[in-house]
Amino acid sequence: MSQILDYLQSQQSAMNEMLAQWVNQDSPTYHKDVVDKMGQMTMQAFLEAGVTLATTHTQPKYGDHYTMHYGEGGSQILILCHFDTVWALGEATRRPFTIENGIGYGPGTYDMKAGTLIALFALKALHHLGLKPRHKLVYMLTADEEISSPTSRPLIEAEGRQSNYCLVLEGSVNHSMTTARKGIGRFTMHITGKAAHAGVEPQKGVSAIEELARQIQALHAMTDHTKGVTVNVGVISGGERPNIVAPHASAEIDLRIVTQADAKAYCQKILSLQPFLEGCQLEVLGSITRWPFEETEANLALFEQAKLISEQLGMPTNHRQSGGGSDGNFTAALGVPTLDGLGAIGGGAHALTEHVVLEYLPKRAALLAELIMRL
Ligand SMILES: [Zn+2]
Repeated sequence: MSQILDYLQSQQSAMNEMLAQWVNQDSPTYHKDVVDKMGQMTMQAFLEAGVTLATTHTQPKYGDHYTMHYGEGGSQILILCHFDTVWALGEATRRPFTIENGIGYGPGTYDMKAGTLIALFALKALHHLGLKPRHKLVYMLTADEEISSPTSRPLIEAEGRQSNYCLVLEGSVNHSMTTARKGIGRFTMHITGKAAHAGVEPQKGVSAIEELARQIQALHAMTDHTKGVTVNVGVISGGERPNIVAPHASAEIDLRIVTQADAKAYCQKILSLQPFLEGCQLEVLGSITRWPFEETEANLALFEQAKLISEQLGMPTNHRQSGGGSDGNFTAALGVPTLDGLGAIGGGAHALTEHVVLEYLPKRAALLAELIMRL
């Protein structure tokens, strides 16, 4: 392990420089031409580090995804990185990469350009030192994680089915690793009522807004903190004018669940909601967009291996469950031993405070490289 660490410590300034370059390239999920630039830049860096490009998954609407291979073996380790960010076009110009007291700031630093960089440099270490992992390494660089991976999901699942392990480079808080994540459901509710003059003949109308108000109560009442289940109506709209009984209303709903069983049960509950008011029509559409990443024994066993290495590198760690989803949810739901939070140490994902601690970049890359060698 010491030769891996020595090599990576010597790469600190190269890591900082490449991170600056990557952060200064915008990569908003919804701008294909821009996020494609980031994808090509990232893919090129991996090619230079020794991978072979297996497939470019060309996409008509979102950015292209890449699958790359390194080494040989009948078994494989899947390593997941995404290069899109939640930040709008022009954010990198407004707020370019800066370093202050050893902390790197900028859009996408923590989520997850520094994580992808860690995966790249772990690979460089293996390649430079001529170390041969027991398993073939399969890297997937994807472009639509921040919108729940509509186009990369089937690709990740197909690759996941072939994999013995899955390692995900999302960021880490205080050196913790992620061994479980909540699943996510997304739903839209459309209510059709009946318009009427609110002053002249209100009794002839049926208010979609009143119906919605009752549905919101029913939905929020499904939240059960003891089970880690939350239901949130996050967006509502409806009505025409103050003096019209509202003919329509709608809502967008977010569901979070911890277990597969609750995912099915609560999805069913939400989809089968019935109207309270006579004369109202209710339509609920939606599904589970990310199945729960449950804390299985296999995931914990993988964590224990990583923990040992992290401690040997002077980084005590623990495992945690996250309320947010990642692409690790897809592989974990398939039963593939999955470990997430192997990326950068920092915080502030999706916030202006987003940052990474630069001095840990080489050590985190050493952790990943050593973990790959021990699996
Ligand atoms: Zn991310």
